[in-house]
Amino acid sequence: VSDRERADVVIVGSGPTGAAYARALRNLLPYLDILMLEAGPLLGPRPGAHVSAIPEGTFRQAAEIASQGPLAKAYDPIDHDEWRGRVAGGVDASLRRRPGLFIANAADAATGTEAFAGFAAANVGGMGAHWSGGCPRPARSEYPDLFGDAEMADLLAEAETMLSVQPELFAGDSRLETMIDTLGAAFSAGRPPQRSVRTMPMAASMVDGQLHTHGTEIILGSMLVDDPSFRLRPGTTGLRIRHEGDRASAVEVHERLSDRRYSIDCAAVVVAADALHGPQLLHASGLRPWALGRHLNEHFQVSLLVELDGTASPKGMMWMPYLGADFPFSVTIGGANQGHMPFDRPTDRGLAFVSVFCAGDILPENRVTFDDAKTDWRGLPQLSVQMHLTDKDQQTLAAARALTREIAHIIGRPLPGHTPFSPPLGSSLHYQGSLRMGSDDRDSVSNRDSRVWGLRNVHVAGNGVIPTATGTNPTLMSVSLAIAGARGLARHLAG
Ligand SMILES: Cc1cc2nc3c(=O)[nH]c(=O)nc-3n(C[C@H](O)[C@H](O)[C@H](O)COP(=O)(O)OP(=O)(O)OC[C@H]3O[C@@H](n4cnc5c(N)ncnc54)[C@H](O)[C@@H]3O)c2cc1C
Repeated sequence: VSDRERADVVIVGSGPTGAAYARALRNLLPYLDILMLEAGPLLGPRPGAHVSAIPEGTFRQAAEIASQGPLAKAYDPIDHDEWRGRVAGGVDASLRRRPGLFIANAADAATGTEAFAGFAAANVGGMGAHWSGGCPRPARSEYPDLFGDAEMADLLAEAETMLSVQPELFAGDSRLETMIDTLGAAFSAGRPPQRSVRTMPMAASMVDGQLHTHGTEIILGSMLVDDPSFRLRPGTTGLRIRHEGDRASAVEVHERLSDRRYSIDCAAVVVAADALHGPQLLHASGLRPWALGRHLNEHFQVSLLVELDGTASPKGMMWMPYLGADFPFSVTIGGANQGHMPFDRPTDRGLAFVSVFCAGDILPENRVTFDDAKTDWRGLPQLSVQMHLTDKDQQTLAAARALTREIAHIIGRPLPGHTPFSPPLGSSLHYQGSLRMGSDDRDSVSNRDSRVWGLRNVHVAGNGVIPTATGTNPTLMSVSLAIAGARGLARHLAG
């Protein structure tokens, strides 16, 4: 077997944003030879399909375990003591055990625990094989000023088409509609119509009455079936981008099963390796702009369980959109299931969860760092996360707690004995800023095409590229920015 290979474009990472780069490049340059690397395994016969497409039970559990990188075993389920701690508003250890995910950052040396829970999924489809599929549109203040309104509207529309977003998937759920009406009367006054209280737009469809969440197989579509110029290579880690001057020339990789190392020569590289591992790969490659890994932010959260007046729970999800400084929250409300309520579930009342994502301050010192002397399970520098909340963040959290209570009392009441609780930092799974785009190479990693400053042919993708303070679930925006980046890369490759 040769230890050299070639592709026009190597995409590192097979989650939604890597898939969006592949799809957008294919639409623009039909003959481009694209090779997509994925450190984790295939989970089933349909590459990138969501785990909910795998029948519940042994097979789905095996797929979740296979996604957990170094932690290839089932997690212990939450126990009664942990649950009681959570009900009382505390942070219980089970919140760090999430099937299908593993924590990528090293334990905090001072406390022996991870202050930040930096979750990741390592599998074909990335977190897109595990996500909930909520695809609300960002508010104007949430997307970068680098894009005009018309351009961003066009990118968002293309992203919605790629993800096959259904804006009204939950229309007709009468319990949900009642909640929307009630909360709309309380919260929609003064909001622009498109940001009033409404059903959650979903990258999902109903198949035989079951929710089918869209994974990356929906984005890649025909590329998985009849496209000889697209190759997907699971179990293969990008270790280093080789570069000379302002050009990358190859990606050095490691194939786990065969334990083979080789290089792939290429005309361009797209690093779509999530907001923690993307910076890791650039760091390992000696590509270290000052802003790399900095400005890390996430949507810290408050959740509360609510007892409804009726006896049944809604099935779908609704959304109270983020507005900026006046309402720095994105609120999801939906019917509670076994995962929300593993013990002590009352049987005579409908239940809902209220989950508030908060926009936080963006600080350069909140960051991912790397230890070159230690490697992670794939042989890349071990990453750590330093993050703290500011006084303003603490005020936002307090306001979010008050908001969950207010919502609970409008649609019912907090479930008796339950208090709003905040899971560990990192629990939103929405990590932003570590690869931020900008107009100045002194405080950003990439330009508006997501091209890394100083390099002609290395692009980054994922939530890490988002430079702004946001509250809205980020995937739709990240996919939009990936489409913009792919357009820029296609211009470069064609020119
Ligand atoms: C349970 C859950 C619910 C969620 N719900 C929502 C939601 O409702 N709405 C929303 O907007 N977002 C949601 N998210 C977040 C969403 O899934 C992410 O925003 C999205 O998947 C990010 O896409 P990505 O392509 O940037 O990265 P990822 O999906 O994380 O994929 C990155 C991939 O890169 C691979 N990789 C990393 N390093 C390397 C390397 N060196 N070599 C090769 N491969 C590498 C990883 O193994 C991984 O498979 C949710 C996530 C989870 C887990």
